Amino acid sequence: MKQFVIIGLGRFGSSLGQELVQLGYEVLGIDKNEETVDDMSRVLTHVVAADATDEETLRALGVRNFDCGVVAIGDDIQASILATIQLKDIGVKKVVAKALSELHGRVLEKLGVDRVIYPERDMGIRVAHQLVSPNLLDYIELSKEYTIAELAVPSCLNGKTLQDINTRARFGCSIVAINKPKGGVIIAPTAVEELEEKDIMVVIGTNEQIEKFEASVA
Ligand code: ADP
Repeated sequence: MKQFVIIGLGRFGSSLGQELVQLGYEVLGIDKNEETVDDMSRVLTHVVAADATDEETLRALGVRNFDCGVVAIGDDIQASILATIQLKDIGVKKVVAKALSELHGRVLEKLGVDRVIYPERDMGIRVAHQLVSPNLLDYIELSKEYTIAELAVPSCLNGKTLQDINTRARFGCSIVAINKPKGGVIIAPTAVEELEEKDIMVVIGTNEQIEKFEASVA
């Protein structure tokens, strides 16, 4: 089973840790603030109040043996950079770090982290997409051009089959899965599959194709 160490249990680190525990993973949370550590002691598998920029402390905690380390320190850029260097030097297999700005992110990349996350920036972009497309629940950008989008089935498509909607011929995008609240997920649905309001359809195509399809049912 994968084990995660999260450094910094602010809003981002604590919600990340809580979700990982709920998904069934072991999480060690480290924060220098004793009160924060106390609050999270019932939520995470292990918690320790310590300064994560200190190499000896991290070694003593056996951080080396963790599969993934997440540096979730926000405002204190110096502490974020130092903690990241420590995780890389100790040899944690995968290191993920949160950046507050592009420049902070560039520094983290230079330190060789596997992934830099920009929670505020990314959430802003995500919410903007959702605000302009009311049926859009979530999306993954496959490249600059291609996207996989999760769209709520609007009432005007209730009872229609994939053949009736014919997204591939009309817009160029394809419905590759349908999630039915009662019937489960149908992967690669056939043309006779019927959509119901409350279903979620997973659509793959270029951004333009998906936007056109969405506009046609908005
Ligand atoms: P968020 O925006 O996610 O709430 P914050 O910057 O508010 O992030 O929280 C970061 C957390 O990281 C705080 O709880 C703080 O105590 C902790 N932290 C900051 N520096 C260190 C450090 N050197 N070692 C351990 N924890 C730290």
